[in-house]
Amino acid sequence: MNKKNLEYFENLLLEKRKRKIVELQDIEGRIRVSQQDYTSELSLYPDHEADIASDAESREENVHIAGNRADILGKIDRALKKISNNGYGICEDCGKEIERKRLECIPYARYCIECEEIREGKK
Ligand SMILES: [Zn+2]
Repeated sequence: MNKKNLEYFENLLLEKRKRKIVELQDIEGRIRVSQQDYTSELSLYPDHEADIASDAESREENVHIAGNRADILGKIDRALKKISNNGYGICEDCGKEIERKRLECIPYARYCIECEEIREGKK
């Protein structure tokens, strides 16, 4: 991959990284707030079990989303490291170049589409 393309994807990754950090902080804030609601509601309104259950559910969902965002952030950092090591855009399994179209969608992709499908058990 030439320098111009590398810079393009580096910017793309840095942009995504910024966005994911904001999203993650937002979700973590919401988890903290719902945790506080949860404990105060438990002591104040013992019959509000249904509400509490749905709160706990959305909290669980937020925890799940936060985990997912953290996971993507890790992948973004890894991809940025690959840019500085000149290994960006190369499949970590077969060593071939990852299709540009794929990188446009998922700039932190670690594998080419072929290897990804093998990993996901589709092949
Ligand atoms: Zn591959």
